Amino acid sequence: MLAASGWLWSAGAVALGTACLWIFQSAIDKGQASLLYLPIVLFCAIRFGYGQAIGAAVLSFFCWDFFFLPPRFTLTVVNPRDTLSLFVFLIAAVVTARLSSRIRQQAAEAQVREHEISTLFNASEAISAEIDADRILPALASQIVSTCRASRCIVLRQGIADAMEPVASVWSDKSDHAVLQSVVQVLAEAVFSDDQEIGFGQSPRLLRRAMETMELPAEYDRTEDPGIYVPLHAQSKLVGVLHVGPRIMSGASGKETTRFSDTERRLILTLSNHAAVVLARQTLSDQAAEADALRRADTLKDALLSMVSHELRSPLAAIKVAASGLRQSDAVWDSADRDAAIRGIDVEADRLIGVVNNLLDLSRLEGGAWAPNRDWCDMAEIVGTVIGQLTAEADRIITDVPDDLPLIKVDYVQIMLVLTNLLQNALKYSNEDSNVELSAQTDTCDVEGVVVSGVKVSVRDHGPGITPGEETKIFERFFRGDRHRNSTIHGTGVGLTLCRAVVLAHKGQIWAENYEDDPQSRGSVFQFFLPIG
Ligand code: ADP
Repeated sequence: MLAASGWLWSAGAVALGTACLWIFQSAIDKGQASLLYLPIVLFCAIRFGYGQAIGAAVLSFFCWDFFFLPPRFTLTVVNPRDTLSLFVFLIAAVVTARLSSRIRQQAAEAQVREHEISTLFNASEAISAEIDADRILPALASQIVSTCRASRCIVLRQGIADAMEPVASVWSDKSDHAVLQSVVQVLAEAVFSDDQEIGFGQSPRLLRRAMETMELPAEYDRTEDPGIYVPLHAQSKLVGVLHVGPRIMSGASGKETTRFSDTERRLILTLSNHAAVVLARQTLSDQAAEADALRRADTLKDALLSMVSHELRSPLAAIKVAASGLRQSDAVWDSADRDAAIRGIDVEADRLIGVVNNLLDLSRLEGGAWAPNRDWCDMAEIVGTVIGQLTAEADRIITDVPDDLPLIKVDYVQIMLVLTNLLQNALKYSNEDSNVELSAQTDTCDVEGVVVSGVKVSVRDHGPGITPGEETKIFERFFRGDRHRNSTIHGTGVGLTLCRAVVLAHKGQIWAENYEDDPQSRGSVFQFFLPIG
Protein backbone atom coordinates (compact mmCIF):
# COMPACT_ATOMS: atom_id res chain seq x y z
CA MET A 1 0.00 0.00 0.00
CA LEU A 2 2.77 2.38 1.08
CA ALA A 3 4.96 1.23 -1.83
CA ALA A 4 2.12 1.83 -4.36
CA SER A 5 1.51 5.32 -3.06
CA GLY A 6 5.29 5.88 -3.24
CA TRP A 7 5.24 5.11 -6.97
CA LEU A 8 2.35 7.53 -7.49
CA TRP A 9 4.05 10.25 -5.41
CA SER A 10 7.27 9.81 -7.44
CA ALA A 11 5.41 10.07 -10.75
CA GLY A 12 3.53 13.10 -9.39
CA ALA A 13 6.80 14.79 -8.36
CA VAL A 14 8.28 14.28 -11.83
CA ALA A 15 5.04 15.61 -13.42
CA LEU A 16 5.12 18.67 -11.14
CA GLY A 17 8.78 19.31 -11.96
CA THR A 18 8.02 19.01 -15.67
CA ALA A 19 5.11 21.46 -15.31
CA CYS A 20 7.38 23.97 -13.53
CA LEU A 21 10.02 23.62 -16.22
CA TRP A 22 7.31 24.09 -18.86
CA ILE A 23 6.13 27.30 -17.21
CA PHE A 24 9.63 28.73 -16.81
CA GLN A 25 11.09 27.27 -20.00
CA SER A 26 11.78 30.71 -21.48
CA ALA A 27 14.02 31.48 -18.48
CA ILE A 28 15.81 28.13 -18.39
CA ASP A 29 18.14 26.64 -20.89
CA LYS A 30 16.97 23.20 -22.14
CA GLY A 31 20.19 21.67 -20.85
CA GLN A 32 19.53 22.90 -17.32
CA ALA A 33 16.41 20.75 -16.88
CA SER A 34 18.53 18.11 -15.16
CA LEU A 35 19.14 20.61 -12.33
CA LEU A 36 15.48 20.27 -11.36
CA TYR A 37 15.04 16.57 -12.15
CA LEU A 38 18.05 15.45 -10.04
CA PRO A 39 16.66 16.89 -6.76
CA ILE A 40 13.36 15.15 -7.56
CA VAL A 41 15.17 11.81 -7.91
CA LEU A 42 17.03 12.56 -4.67
CA PHE A 43 13.73 13.34 -2.89
CA CYS A 44 12.14 10.08 -4.15
CA ALA A 45 15.19 8.05 -3.04
CA ILE A 46 15.13 9.51 0.47
CA ARG A 47 11.38 9.51 0.86
CA PHE A 48 10.30 6.25 -0.85
CA GLY A 49 13.33 4.10 -1.62
CA TYR A 50 15.53 2.86 -4.42
CA GLY A 51 12.90 1.46 -6.80
CA GLN A 52 10.78 4.61 -6.80
CA ALA A 53 13.89 6.78 -7.29
CA ILE A 54 14.96 4.75 -10.34
CA GLY A 55 11.39 5.04 -11.66
CA ALA A 56 11.54 8.81 -11.17
CA ALA A 57 14.95 8.95 -12.93
CA VAL A 58 13.68 7.03 -15.98
CA LEU A 59 10.47 9.09 -16.13
CA SER A 60 12.48 12.34 -15.86
CA PHE A 61 14.73 11.10 -18.67
CA PHE A 62 11.75 10.62 -21.01
CA CYS A 63 9.95 13.84 -19.92
CA TRP A 64 13.06 15.89 -20.50
CA ASP A 65 13.56 14.34 -23.95
CA PHE A 66 9.87 14.51 -24.89
CA PHE A 67 9.05 18.04 -23.72
CA PHE A 68 12.25 20.00 -23.91
CA LEU A 69 14.76 18.51 -26.36
CA PRO A 70 14.30 19.23 -30.09
CA PRO A 71 12.45 17.87 -31.96
CA ARG A 72 9.85 18.36 -29.17
CA PHE A 73 6.99 15.95 -28.45
CA THR A 74 8.95 13.01 -29.86
CA LEU A 75 11.44 10.73 -28.15
CA THR A 76 13.89 11.26 -30.99
CA VAL A 77 17.06 13.23 -30.27
CA VAL A 78 18.98 14.70 -33.17
CA ASN A 79 21.77 16.60 -31.48
CA PRO A 80 24.50 14.21 -30.22
CA ARG A 81 25.26 16.70 -27.36
CA ASP A 82 21.65 16.32 -26.17
CA THR A 83 22.00 12.52 -26.31
CA LEU A 84 25.13 12.79 -24.20
CA SER A 85 23.40 15.13 -21.67
CA LEU A 86 20.48 12.71 -21.41
CA PHE A 87 22.65 9.70 -20.67
CA VAL A 88 24.91 11.60 -18.27
CA PHE A 89 21.73 12.69 -16.45
CA LEU A 90 20.48 9.10 -16.34
CA ILE A 91 23.76 7.80 -14.91
CA ALA A 92 23.93 10.66 -12.34
CA ALA A 93 20.29 10.04 -11.37
CA VAL A 94 20.83 6.29 -10.90
CA VAL A 95 23.98 6.89 -8.80
CA THR A 96 22.14 9.53 -6.74
CA ALA A 97 19.21 7.13 -6.24
CA ARG A 98 21.52 4.32 -5.19
CA LEU A 99 23.56 6.39 -2.73
CA SER A 100 20.69 8.24 -1.15
CA SER A 101 18.53 5.13 -0.81
CA ARG A 102 21.44 3.40 0.93
CA ILE A 103 21.73 6.33 3.33
CA ARG A 104 17.97 6.10 3.90
CA GLN A 105 18.25 2.40 4.65
CA GLN A 106 21.14 2.98 7.05
CA ALA A 107 19.19 5.72 8.81
CA ALA A 108 16.21 3.38 9.15
CA GLU A 109 18.43 0.62 10.53
CA ALA A 110 20.03 3.05 12.99
CA GLN A 111 16.55 4.10 14.10
CA VAL A 112 15.53 0.47 14.66
CA ARG A 113 18.73 -0.18 16.60
CA GLU A 114 18.22 2.93 18.66
CA HIS A 115 14.65 1.86 19.47
CA GLU A 116 15.94 -1.60 20.37
CA ILE A 117 18.65 -0.18 22.63
CA SER A 118 16.31 2.25 24.33
CA THR A 119 13.75 -0.54 24.89
CA LEU A 120 16.46 -2.76 26.33
CA PHE A 121 17.73 0.09 28.44
CA ASN A 122 14.23 0.77 29.80
CA ALA A 123 13.76 -2.92 30.45
CA SER A 124 17.07 -3.37 32.24
CA GLU A 125 16.48 -0.17 34.22
CA ALA A 126 13.08 -1.45 35.36
CA ILE A 127 14.63 -4.79 36.25
CA SER A 128 17.68 -3.42 38.03
CA ALA A 129 15.40 -1.22 40.14
CA GLU A 130 14.31 -4.47 41.80
CA ILE A 131 16.72 -5.72 44.42
CA ASP A 132 14.64 -8.62 45.58
CA ALA A 133 15.31 -11.64 43.34
CA ASP A 134 11.68 -12.75 43.71
CA ARG A 135 10.52 -9.51 42.11
CA ILE A 136 13.02 -9.33 39.22
CA LEU A 137 11.35 -12.08 37.18
CA PRO A 138 7.83 -10.56 37.44
CA ALA A 139 9.35 -7.15 36.53
CA LEU A 140 11.06 -8.71 33.54
CA ALA A 141 7.87 -10.52 32.45
CA SER A 142 5.81 -7.34 32.68
CA GLN A 143 8.45 -5.47 30.64
CA ILE A 144 8.08 -8.05 27.86
CA VAL A 145 4.27 -7.87 28.01
CA SER A 146 4.20 -4.07 27.88
CA THR A 147 6.98 -3.56 25.32
CA CYS A 148 5.88 -6.29 22.89
CA ARG A 149 2.17 -5.89 23.71
CA ALA A 150 2.14 -9.67 24.29
CA SER A 151 -0.88 -11.42 25.81
CA ARG A 152 1.27 -12.98 28.56
CA CYS A 153 4.78 -13.75 29.69
CA ILE A 154 5.51 -16.69 31.97
CA VAL A 155 8.84 -17.86 33.38
CA LEU A 156 8.86 -21.51 34.41
CA ARG A 157 11.36 -23.73 36.12
CA GLN A 158 11.47 -27.41 36.88
CA GLY A 159 9.81 -28.21 40.18
CA ILE A 160 8.79 -31.31 42.07
CA ALA A 161 8.42 -34.50 39.98
CA ASP A 162 9.96 -32.74 36.94
CA ALA A 163 6.80 -30.71 36.32
CA MET A 164 7.35 -27.17 35.06
CA GLU A 165 6.23 -24.62 37.63
CA PRO A 166 5.63 -20.94 36.88
CA VAL A 167 7.86 -18.69 38.97
CA ALA A 168 6.57 -15.46 37.43
CA SER A 169 3.52 -14.91 35.26
CA VAL A 170 2.12 -11.68 33.92
CA TRP A 171 -1.07 -11.56 31.83
CA SER A 172 -2.29 -8.59 29.83
CA ASP A 173 -5.91 -9.15 30.92
CA LYS A 174 -7.61 -10.34 34.08
CA SER A 175 -9.80 -13.14 32.68
CA ASP A 176 -9.59 -16.76 33.84
CA HIS A 177 -6.43 -18.37 32.42
CA ALA A 178 -6.66 -21.83 33.98
CA VAL A 179 -6.80 -23.67 30.61
CA LEU A 180 -4.02 -21.66 28.99
CA GLN A 181 -1.91 -21.95 32.12
CA SER A 182 -1.96 -25.73 31.95
CA VAL A 183 -1.28 -25.66 28.17
CA VAL A 184 1.76 -23.45 28.81
CA GLN A 185 3.00 -25.89 31.45
CA VAL A 186 2.64 -28.87 29.09
CA LEU A 187 4.38 -27.12 26.17
CA ALA A 188 7.11 -25.80 28.48
CA GLU A 189 7.75 -29.40 29.59
CA ALA A 190 8.21 -30.43 25.93
CA VAL A 191 10.53 -27.46 25.31
CA PHE A 192 12.51 -28.24 28.46
CA SER A 193 12.91 -31.94 27.75
CA ASP A 194 13.88 -31.38 24.06
CA ASP A 195 15.85 -28.19 24.76
CA GLN A 196 14.27 -26.69 21.61
CA GLU A 197 12.50 -23.41 21.20
CA ILE A 198 9.04 -22.86 19.76
CA GLY A 199 8.11 -19.85 17.69
CA PHE A 200 11.58 -18.85 16.50
CA GLY A 201 13.04 -21.48 14.23
CA GLN A 202 12.10 -24.96 13.11
CA SER A 203 9.94 -26.33 15.87
CA PRO A 204 6.82 -27.79 14.21
CA ARG A 205 7.87 -31.39 14.91
CA LEU A 206 8.23 -30.67 18.61
CA LEU A 207 4.98 -28.74 18.57
CA ARG A 208 3.16 -31.53 16.73
CA ARG A 209 4.51 -34.14 19.15
CA ALA A 210 3.47 -32.04 22.12
CA MET A 211 0.02 -31.45 20.65
CA GLU A 212 -0.49 -35.14 19.79
CA THR A 213 1.08 -36.95 22.71
CA MET A 214 0.90 -34.63 25.69
CA GLU A 215 -2.16 -34.18 27.78
CA LEU A 216 -3.67 -30.86 26.79
CA PRO A 217 -7.04 -29.73 28.16
CA ALA A 218 -9.91 -30.68 25.83
CA GLU A 219 -11.19 -27.07 25.77
CA TYR A 220 -7.95 -25.81 24.25
CA ASP A 221 -8.16 -24.75 20.59
CA ARG A 222 -5.11 -26.49 19.07
CA THR A 223 -5.09 -24.21 16.02
CA GLU A 224 -4.35 -21.24 18.27
CA ASP A 225 -0.95 -19.55 17.91
CA PRO A 226 1.06 -21.08 20.79
CA GLY A 227 3.38 -18.06 21.06
CA ILE A 228 7.07 -18.25 21.84
CA TYR A 229 8.90 -20.69 24.14
CA VAL A 230 12.59 -20.16 24.81
CA PRO A 231 14.70 -22.66 26.80
CA LEU A 232 16.73 -20.74 29.37
CA HIS A 233 20.42 -21.62 29.70
CA ALA A 234 22.87 -20.38 32.29
CA GLN A 235 26.42 -21.66 32.66
CA SER A 236 25.62 -24.21 29.93
CA LYS A 237 22.85 -25.67 32.06
CA LEU A 238 19.14 -25.67 31.23
CA VAL A 239 17.47 -23.78 34.06
CA GLY A 240 13.95 -23.04 32.83
CA VAL A 241 11.68 -21.87 30.02
CA LEU A 242 10.40 -18.42 29.13
CA HIS A 243 7.05 -18.24 27.35
CA VAL A 244 5.62 -15.20 25.58
CA GLY A 245 1.98 -15.40 24.46
CA PRO A 246 1.05 -14.02 21.01
CA ARG A 247 -0.04 -10.43 20.54
CA ILE A 248 -3.83 -10.42 20.26
CA MET A 249 -5.53 -7.48 18.51
CA SER A 250 -9.18 -6.95 17.77
CA GLY A 251 -9.57 -6.86 13.98
CA ALA A 252 -12.49 -6.77 11.53
CA SER A 253 -12.90 -10.56 11.81
CA GLY A 254 -12.75 -10.67 15.61
CA LYS A 255 -9.55 -11.32 17.56
CA GLU A 256 -6.41 -11.73 15.47
CA THR A 257 -2.88 -12.56 16.51
CA THR A 258 -0.04 -10.56 14.96
CA ARG A 259 3.58 -11.62 14.55
CA PHE A 260 6.26 -10.06 16.70
CA SER A 261 8.72 -7.90 14.76
CA ASP A 262 12.39 -8.89 14.51
CA THR A 263 13.23 -6.18 17.06
CA GLU A 264 10.68 -7.60 19.50
CA ARG A 265 12.01 -11.10 19.01
CA ARG A 266 15.55 -9.91 19.64
CA LEU A 267 14.34 -8.13 22.77
CA ILE A 268 12.62 -11.31 23.99
CA LEU A 269 15.81 -13.30 23.41
CA THR A 270 17.93 -10.72 25.23
CA LEU A 271 15.57 -10.53 28.19
CA SER A 272 15.38 -14.33 28.28
CA ASN A 273 19.15 -14.30 28.92
CA HIS A 274 18.51 -12.01 31.90
CA ALA A 275 15.79 -14.40 33.10
CA ALA A 276 18.19 -17.35 32.80
CA VAL A 277 20.79 -15.61 34.96
CA VAL A 278 18.19 -14.67 37.58
CA LEU A 279 16.80 -18.23 37.63
CA ALA A 280 20.29 -19.72 37.95
CA ARG A 281 21.03 -17.30 40.79
CA GLN A 282 17.77 -18.20 42.49
CA THR A 283 18.49 -21.92 42.13
CA LEU A 284 21.97 -21.40 43.60
CA SER A 285 20.66 -19.40 46.53
CA ASP A 286 17.90 -22.01 47.13
CA GLN A 287 20.57 -24.72 47.14
CA ALA A 288 22.72 -22.64 49.50
CA ALA A 289 19.75 -22.09 51.82
CA GLU A 290 18.99 -25.83 51.71
CA ALA A 291 22.62 -26.69 52.48
CA ASP A 292 22.60 -24.12 55.28
CA ALA A 293 19.39 -25.58 56.73
CA LEU A 294 20.89 -29.08 56.55
CA ARG A 295 24.09 -27.87 58.20
CA ARG A 296 22.12 -26.16 60.95
CA ALA A 297 19.95 -29.25 61.42
CA ASP A 298 23.15 -31.27 61.71
CA THR A 299 24.61 -28.90 64.29
CA LEU A 300 21.35 -29.01 66.24
CA LYS A 301 21.31 -32.79 66.08
CA ASP A 302 24.86 -32.90 67.43
CA ALA A 303 23.96 -30.44 70.19
CA LEU A 304 20.83 -32.40 71.07
CA LEU A 305 22.77 -35.66 71.16
CA SER A 306 25.47 -34.22 73.38
CA MET A 307 22.86 -32.65 75.65
CA VAL A 308 20.92 -35.91 75.88
CA SER A 309 24.07 -37.87 76.57
CA HIS A 310 25.01 -35.54 79.44
CA GLU A 311 21.76 -34.41 80.89
CA LEU A 312 19.68 -37.55 80.55
CA ARG A 313 22.35 -40.13 81.13
CA SER A 314 23.66 -38.83 84.44
CA PRO A 315 20.29 -38.62 86.25
CA LEU A 316 19.30 -41.98 84.75
CA ALA A 317 22.58 -43.51 85.94
CA ALA A 318 22.05 -42.04 89.44
CA ILE A 319 18.48 -43.40 89.54
CA LYS A 320 19.67 -46.80 88.32
CA VAL A 321 22.40 -47.01 91.01
CA ALA A 322 20.04 -45.95 93.80
CA ALA A 323 17.24 -48.26 92.63
CA SER A 324 19.61 -51.27 92.23
CA GLY A 325 21.00 -50.64 95.71
CA LEU A 326 17.52 -50.50 97.21
CA ARG A 327 16.54 -53.74 95.50
CA GLN A 328 19.47 -55.79 96.90
CA SER A 329 17.93 -57.80 99.69
CA ASP A 330 21.24 -58.47 101.42
CA ALA A 331 22.27 -54.86 101.43
CA VAL A 332 22.55 -53.38 104.81
CA TRP A 333 20.76 -50.03 104.64
CA ASP A 334 20.07 -47.95 107.62
CA SER A 335 16.98 -45.80 107.35
CA ALA A 336 19.01 -42.61 106.70
CA ASP A 337 20.78 -44.20 103.69
CA ARG A 338 17.49 -45.54 102.40
CA ASP A 339 15.90 -42.08 102.70
CA ALA A 340 18.89 -40.48 100.95
CA ALA A 341 18.67 -42.99 98.09
CA ILE A 342 14.93 -42.42 97.72
CA ARG A 343 15.40 -38.63 97.84
CA GLY A 344 18.15 -38.97 95.21
CA ILE A 345 15.80 -40.88 92.90
CA ASP A 346 13.11 -38.24 93.47
CA VAL A 347 15.47 -35.30 92.71
CA GLU A 348 17.00 -36.94 89.64
CA ALA A 349 13.56 -37.94 88.34
CA ASP A 350 12.42 -34.31 88.79
CA ARG A 351 15.47 -33.17 86.84
CA LEU A 352 14.67 -35.61 84.07
CA ILE A 353 11.06 -34.48 83.98
CA GLY A 354 12.23 -30.84 83.89
CA VAL A 355 14.57 -31.50 80.92
CA VAL A 356 11.96 -33.45 78.97
CA ASN A 357 9.22 -30.90 79.73
CA ASN A 358 11.42 -28.01 78.61
CA LEU A 359 12.24 -29.83 75.38
CA LEU A 360 8.59 -30.64 74.71
CA ASP A 361 7.44 -27.12 75.55
CA LEU A 362 10.07 -25.63 73.23
CA SER A 363 9.12 -27.88 70.34
CA ARG A 364 5.41 -27.09 70.84
CA LEU A 365 6.13 -23.37 70.99
CA GLU A 366 8.40 -23.33 67.98
CA GLY A 367 6.10 -25.58 65.99
CA GLY A 368 3.23 -23.16 66.65
CA ALA A 369 1.30 -25.84 68.55
CA TRP A 370 1.24 -23.84 71.78
CA ALA A 371 -0.08 -20.39 71.01
CA PRO A 372 -0.47 -18.16 74.07
CA ASN A 373 -3.92 -18.41 75.61
CA ARG A 374 -4.06 -14.78 76.75
CA ASP A 375 -6.13 -13.42 79.56
CA TRP A 376 -5.88 -10.49 82.00
CA CYS A 377 -3.36 -11.47 84.69
CA ASP A 378 -1.74 -9.88 87.69
CA MET A 379 2.06 -10.15 87.58
CA ALA A 380 2.22 -10.14 91.41
CA GLU A 381 0.03 -13.26 91.43
CA ILE A 382 2.25 -15.03 88.85
CA VAL A 383 5.35 -14.18 90.91
CA GLY A 384 3.67 -15.55 94.07
CA THR A 385 2.73 -18.84 92.38
CA VAL A 386 6.22 -19.35 90.92
CA ILE A 387 8.00 -18.66 94.22
CA GLY A 388 5.56 -20.97 95.96
CA GLN A 389 6.66 -23.79 93.66
CA LEU A 390 10.40 -23.20 94.24
CA THR A 391 10.09 -24.43 97.82
CA ALA A 392 13.70 -25.46 98.40
CA GLU A 393 15.31 -22.11 97.68
CA ALA A 394 12.41 -19.68 97.92
CA ASP A 395 13.94 -17.95 100.92
CA ARG A 396 16.87 -16.72 98.76
CA ILE A 397 14.49 -14.71 96.58
CA ILE A 398 13.79 -11.10 97.51
CA THR A 399 10.82 -9.65 95.65
CA ASP A 400 9.91 -6.08 94.93
CA VAL A 401 6.57 -6.16 93.08
CA PRO A 402 4.28 -3.13 93.64
CA ASP A 403 0.59 -3.78 94.26
CA ASP A 404 -0.58 -1.24 91.73
CA LEU A 405 0.93 -2.91 88.65
CA PRO A 406 -1.52 -2.83 85.73
CA LEU A 407 -3.09 -6.12 84.65
CA ILE A 408 -1.49 -7.55 81.52
CA LYS A 409 -3.06 -9.83 78.94
CA VAL A 410 -0.80 -12.89 78.87
CA ASP A 411 -0.80 -16.67 79.04
CA TYR A 412 -0.50 -17.33 82.80
CA VAL A 413 1.18 -20.73 82.43
CA GLN A 414 3.68 -19.57 79.81
CA ILE A 415 4.77 -16.52 81.82
CA MET A 416 5.13 -18.77 84.89
CA LEU A 417 7.46 -20.90 82.80
CA VAL A 418 9.59 -17.85 81.90
CA LEU A 419 9.84 -16.70 85.51
CA THR A 420 10.58 -20.21 86.75
CA ASN A 421 13.44 -20.65 84.26
CA LEU A 422 14.98 -17.25 85.03
CA LEU A 423 14.75 -17.77 88.78
CA GLN A 424 16.11 -21.32 88.57
CA ASN A 425 19.07 -20.06 86.52
CA ALA A 426 19.73 -17.18 88.91
CA LEU A 427 19.66 -19.60 91.86
CA LYS A 428 21.80 -22.27 90.25
CA TYR A 429 24.45 -19.97 88.73
CA SER A 430 25.07 -18.01 91.96
CA ASN A 431 26.34 -18.92 95.41
CA GLU A 432 23.92 -20.63 97.73
CA ASP A 433 24.41 -17.89 100.32
CA SER A 434 23.62 -15.04 97.92
CA ASN A 435 20.25 -13.54 97.21
CA VAL A 436 18.31 -13.27 93.98
CA GLU A 437 16.30 -10.09 93.53
CA LEU A 438 13.07 -10.15 91.57
CA SER A 439 11.42 -6.84 90.78
CA ALA A 440 8.61 -5.69 88.50
CA GLN A 441 7.57 -2.23 87.40
CA THR A 442 5.46 -0.38 84.87
CA ASP A 443 7.53 0.65 81.87
CA THR A 444 7.45 1.47 78.15
CA CYS A 445 9.36 -0.24 75.40
CA ASP A 446 9.95 0.20 71.68
CA VAL A 447 8.34 -2.86 70.08
CA GLU A 448 8.76 -3.02 66.27
CA GLY A 449 9.14 0.77 66.08
CA VAL A 450 6.12 1.54 68.27
CA VAL A 451 6.44 2.67 71.88
CA VAL A 452 4.08 0.57 74.01
CA SER A 453 3.51 0.47 77.73
CA GLY A 454 3.59 -2.67 79.82
CA VAL A 455 5.34 -4.38 82.70
CA LYS A 456 9.08 -4.99 82.99
CA VAL A 457 10.33 -7.84 85.19
CA SER A 458 13.99 -8.12 86.31
CA VAL A 459 15.76 -11.10 87.87
CA ARG A 460 19.11 -10.15 89.31
CA ASP A 461 21.68 -12.45 90.85
CA HIS A 462 25.13 -12.14 92.43
CA GLY A 463 26.79 -14.90 90.45
CA PRO A 464 29.74 -14.76 88.02
CA GLY A 465 27.70 -12.95 85.36
CA ILE A 466 27.52 -13.70 81.67
CA THR A 467 30.74 -14.11 79.69
CA PRO A 468 31.10 -10.90 77.63
CA GLY A 469 29.99 -11.55 74.04
CA GLU A 470 27.51 -14.25 75.03
CA GLU A 471 24.63 -11.89 75.93
CA THR A 472 22.54 -12.90 72.89
CA LYS A 473 24.04 -16.32 72.21
CA ILE A 474 22.75 -17.68 75.52
CA PHE A 475 19.20 -17.43 74.10
CA GLU A 476 20.09 -19.81 71.26
CA ARG A 477 18.98 -23.40 71.38
CA PHE A 478 21.30 -25.78 73.30
CA PHE A 479 23.83 -23.01 73.89
CA ARG A 480 25.60 -23.23 77.23
CA GLY A 481 27.93 -20.45 78.34
CA ASP A 482 31.66 -20.97 78.07
CA ARG A 483 31.99 -21.04 81.85
CA HIS A 484 29.31 -23.65 82.35
CA ARG A 485 29.79 -26.04 79.45
CA ASN A 486 32.02 -28.38 81.43
CA SER A 487 31.05 -27.32 84.92
CA THR A 488 29.27 -29.39 87.53
CA ILE A 489 26.19 -27.17 87.19
CA HIS A 490 23.74 -29.14 85.10
CA GLY A 491 22.00 -27.53 82.18
CA THR A 492 20.60 -28.20 78.71
CA GLY A 493 20.78 -24.79 77.02
CA VAL A 494 17.02 -24.88 76.44
CA GLY A 495 15.62 -22.76 79.28
CA LEU A 496 16.46 -19.31 77.90
CA THR A 497 15.41 -20.33 74.37
CA LEU A 498 12.05 -21.27 75.82
CA CYS A 499 11.84 -17.92 77.66
CA ARG A 500 12.60 -16.00 74.49
CA ALA A 501 10.03 -17.98 72.45
CA VAL A 502 7.31 -17.24 75.03
CA VAL A 503 8.15 -13.53 75.34
CA LEU A 504 8.29 -13.07 71.57
CA ALA A 505 4.94 -14.86 71.19
CA HIS A 506 3.57 -12.15 73.52
CA LYS A 507 5.18 -9.43 71.34
CA GLY A 508 7.51 -8.57 74.18
CA GLN A 509 11.27 -8.39 74.58
CA ILE A 510 13.85 -10.22 76.68
CA TRP A 511 17.50 -9.43 77.25
CA ALA A 512 20.40 -10.11 79.59
CA GLU A 513 23.31 -8.03 80.84
CA ASN A 514 25.94 -7.89 83.53
CA TYR A 515 26.00 -5.19 86.12
CA GLU A 516 28.91 -3.92 88.14
CA ASP A 517 27.42 -1.22 90.36
CA ASP A 518 30.24 -1.64 92.80
CA PRO A 519 33.28 -3.95 92.71
CA GLN A 520 31.88 -6.00 95.61
CA SER A 521 28.63 -6.67 93.83
CA ARG A 522 28.73 -8.40 90.44
CA GLY A 523 26.27 -10.58 88.65
CA SER A 524 23.77 -10.76 85.84
CA VAL A 525 20.35 -9.31 85.36
CA PHE A 526 17.76 -10.89 83.08
CA GLN A 527 14.86 -8.65 82.13
CA PHE A 528 11.74 -9.09 80.07
CA PHE A 529 9.05 -6.68 79.01
CA LEU A 530 5.43 -7.61 78.26
CA PRO A 531 3.01 -5.17 76.65
CA ILE A 532 -0.27 -4.60 78.48
CA GLY A 533 -2.64 -5.92 75.81
P1 ADP B 1 21.06 -24.04 80.98
O1 ADP B 1 20.98 -23.17 82.18
O2 ADP B 1 20.28 -25.28 81.10
O3 ADP B 1 22.45 -24.25 80.50
P2 ADP B 1 19.76 -21.84 79.70
O4 ADP B 1 19.20 -21.70 78.32
O5 ADP B 1 18.85 -21.57 80.81
O6 ADP B 1 20.37 -23.27 79.77
O7 ADP B 1 21.00 -20.88 79.82
C1 ADP B 1 21.96 -20.85 78.79
C2 ADP B 1 23.29 -20.38 79.33
O8 ADP B 1 23.18 -19.03 79.78
C3 ADP B 1 23.75 -21.13 80.53
O9 ADP B 1 24.43 -22.31 80.16
C4 ADP B 1 24.67 -20.13 81.22
O10 ADP B 1 25.93 -20.18 80.63
C5 ADP B 1 24.04 -18.80 80.88
N1 ADP B 1 23.21 -18.30 81.98
C6 ADP B 1 21.90 -18.39 82.13
N2 ADP B 1 21.49 -17.78 83.26
C7 ADP B 1 22.59 -17.28 83.84
C8 ADP B 1 22.85 -16.54 85.01
N3 ADP B 1 21.87 -16.21 85.85
N4 ADP B 1 24.11 -16.17 85.27
C9 ADP B 1 25.11 -16.50 84.43
N5 ADP B 1 24.94 -17.19 83.31
C10 ADP B 1 23.70 -17.58 82.99
